[in-house]
Amino acid sequence: MDLLQTHNLDCPYCGESIQLIIDCSISDQEYIEDCQVCCRPINIFVSIEDGAAQIHVAHENE
Ligand SMILES: [Zn+2]
Repeated sequence: MDLLQTHNLDCPYCGESIQLIIDCSISDQEYIEDCQVCCRPINIFVSIEDGAAQIHVAHENE
């Protein structure tokens, strides 16, 4: 299994597609990444289930 997986998500602010690289060796992650388009901070929540990353994104203040 490839531990680094690339995922495309829609920015919750501007709606543009952004690319994330998820480290699947960590089962639960929560971090902030700036949108590559509008540069606003996106809360990223990742959980790994059966080797597949389940990703949720939220506004900074949610
Ligand atoms: Zn954006």
